[in-house]
Parts: sequence; C-alpha cells; structure tokens
Amino acid sequence: MSGREEIEILVVGGGPAGATAALLLARSGIEVCLVERRREYQGKVCGEFVSAEGVAVLRRLGILERLLSRGALPITHTRIHSASGDAFDSTLPRSAGEGGIGISRRLLDEALLADAAAAGARIFRGARLSGLSRVASRWVARVHREGSTATLSARVVLGAGGRNSKVAELAGLAGTLPNVGMGLQNHFLRLSPSDERVNLFLLRGGYAGLAPVEQGRWCLGALLFRSAAANPFTDLTASLATTSGARAILASLGDRLDQGATHPIRIGMRRPTTTGLLLAGDAAGSVDPFSGQGIALALMGGEAAAESILGILRGRESPARLGYRDFLRREVGSRLIVTALLRRILERPSLAHACVSAFRRHPILASRLVGLTRNSGGPFLGPLPRLAARFLLK
Ligand SMILES: Cc1cc2nc3c(=O)[nH]c(=O)nc-3n(C[C@H](O)[C@H](O)[C@H](O)COP(=O)(O)OP(=O)(O)OC[C@H]3O[C@@H](n4cnc5c(N)ncnc54)[C@H](O)[C@@H]3O)c2cc1C
Repeated sequence: MSGREEIEILVVGGGPAGATAALLLARSGIEVCLVERRREYQGKVCGEFVSAEGVAVLRRLGILERLLSRGALPITHTRIHSASGDAFDSTLPRSAGEGGIGISRRLLDEALLADAAAAGARIFRGARLSGLSRVASRWVARVHREGSTATLSARVVLGAGGRNSKVAELAGLAGTLPNVGMGLQNHFLRLSPSDERVNLFLLRGGYAGLAPVEQGRWCLGALLFRSAAANPFTDLTASLATTSGARAILASLGDRLDQGATHPIRIGMRRPTTTGLLLAGDAAGSVDPFSGQGIALALMGGEAAAESILGILRGRESPARLGYRDFLRREVGSRLIVTALLRRILERPSLAHACVSAFRRHPILASRLVGLTRNSGGPFLGPLPRLAARFLLK
C-alpha cells in the first residue's frame, strides 16, 4: 500500500467484526482491503468468553473446529457471585446447537485475520486510519503505515475499529456514548482442568469474569465503575479480596502471567450508516461487557455488514442499509435495554445480593435472567426490549 489507490471496499479494524466481514467479502470474490493499526497481536482487554451465538457464527465461517483443536474450551455454565458471598449456578443458553467457548483474543482474532487473508483479502498491519472524507461518490481515506501515508479511495467503507471508532468520528456518526468505567484483564496459570464454567463476580464498584482459555490459562476480565487508585489493579485486587466467593477461587489460581487496562469503556449505539459507509461491532453499538455478548455481536455484525455491502455493490443501497439498521436494532438495541436494567442492579450491592439469593432459590428465574442478555427478551419480557430498541436508533 503506497501513494494513491482506488479500491472497492475498505475495512478499518481487524477485530472480530472487521475480520469476519473481510473474510466473507473476499470469499464472495470482492476486492477488500483491511487496515489494522496493530502491527502484531498486542493483546486486547476482554473476558475472552464467546457466547453461543458467536460460536454459531464461527461454525458458519468454518473456523470453529480449528479453534477447538487449538485449545478453545467449551463453556456450558455460569456461576454468579454477589459481593456478600451468595452465588447461583445457571446453564448458559445454546444457539443453533452450539454452546459458549473460552478462547484468548490472540487465538481468535489472529485466526480470523489469517482466514480473511487466505480468502484473498489484503490485510495491512501497523496501518492506522487518520483521515476520511467524502469526495464525489467515493470515500477517500488517509492511512499511516511504516512512516509513510497512503491515500485509498474506496467505494464502500466499513468502520470496525471498536468502541472509540475513528471512522464514526470522521464520518460524523460519533454520537455521545456514556463512559461506564475502566476495563482490566489478567491471565493466570490454570492449575486444574476446566469445569466448563465462567464465574461472574459482582463486586463493590464493578464486576469481574473468570473464564478458562487455551494453553492452561484463566482469563480474568473486569470492569471498575471508577478507580481512585493510581494503579487500578490495586482496586480490583482489593474488591476481589472482600468477595468471599472470589477469594476462594482466586486463591486456587496459579501465577499471574500478564495484565492490561483500557479506558474509557463506552456503551450505547451510534447511527450506524451513511451513504457508502457502515459501522460494525462495537463501533456501531457496544453492550455492557458483563453480558458476555460483545464478541458474538461483533461476529454477527461482521456477517450482517458483509451481506449489506454486497447489496450496496449490487446497486440496492437503501434497502441494504435499512436491513442492516434493522439487524442492529433487533440484536444490539434490545440487549442494550436489558443490560441497562441489569446494570442498575449491579451498581447497588445490596440489591444485587437480594437478586442473587432469590435466583439461587428459584433457578428458573436465574436461567431466564441469563437468557435475557442473550436474546431479544424472549418470553420473559415479551417484545418490550425490541420495542424500546426502536427508539435507540433513529
Ligand atoms: C473488560 C472487558 C471485558 C469484556 N469481556 C467480554 C467477554 O468475555 N465476551 C464478549 O463477548 N465480549 C467481551 N467484551 C467486549 C468485546 O471485547 C468487544 O465487544 C469486541 O472486542 C468487539 O469487537 P470489534 O471487532 O467490534 O472491535 P475490537 O475487538 O475492539 O477491534 C477493533 C480493531 O480495530 C483496530 N483499530 C482501531 N482504530 C483503528 C484505526 N484508526 N486504524 C486501524 N485500525 C484501528 C484496533 O486495533 C482493533 O484491533 C469485553 C470488553 C471489556 C472492555
């Protein structure tokens, strides 16, 4: 990539959303160019749990068996712990015959990018989008790579650069999404075999999830609503230490292998399209991480965006964009409503404790609660979340 080039499709961001779209477009024989600002994989703050809907996409992409053979682990259950030590177990919902998996972002993101490249997508690592403007009927992008700047003139742009999307900002789709806190991640050595369970700890001032991933490791992903300490890991450790369920589990972990932090964490939806341009994954709309749905929504969004782009290329821009917006309303908007309601509970430890106790006594309510974060409300809330989601997207 150098100088000035005319291309068909530019994908900005090589996470699950961008890589999935690039892979599917390349398989359809479309010329696609993906720019990813990270030169090589540098780690991503995440809980590394992929829910069943995301696993179903990985199956459709033909990549799931390979990921399992490289050590991705099935996750069938969750245990939710309140700050005061109560806990309940729930079976995780399945989707299209699939359950969840624990998988490092290194393995997942790199495998998707490698498959996109093998399908014919041109992947540029260490390439950062810094400018974007509409010129006549094309988008002209400025991309920095290896000390030089290239200009790419694309027919369609897909912004898949995550929750602080540069494409959204430059295309005037940024919106004002609330900042809900700081994300933290640690990997630990796993000393015993996986019990196919993800633990979710409701802390005073945040929450943390612990999932088994490949290569004998645990991934601890956490969100602190706010942190006063110079080192937020001090706050996280202190919160976990005062949560009896977490204390016992953390005492059984092996050595801490690494740590990462990211800030700000924005949740909410953006206007997801304008002429010749779509946003996908977190760039279009990100849900609260405790739902464990972000990766699944990014994979599903990558699929839906690829389909919509194919429609645009066939000259059916309006219906293609409308269909894509409806997909986001249905899948992201409804989950946002449910997780916003649950968040109100999470922010009040005494209320969270009362709910956890009630769910332990009434497991059917517990499985409904978990299910609510994984579909559009289902029979429990009926069509309410879907209806409410209609008002989130103009
Ligand atoms: C603490 C925490 C825990 C979480 N735990 C889970 C979990 O357990 N399960 C789950 O499903 N979800 C979880 N999530 C959410 C999940 O991480 C995201 O929803 C998911 O990564 C979104 O994928 P994406 O492809 O949209 O964006 P990303 O994965 O963020 O990928 C975007 C890519 O774009 C690149 N990029 C950005 N800007 C540019 C630019 N200007 N030029 C070129 N490239 C650019 C970035 O380098 C990045 O690789 C968690 C999030 C947090 C913060």
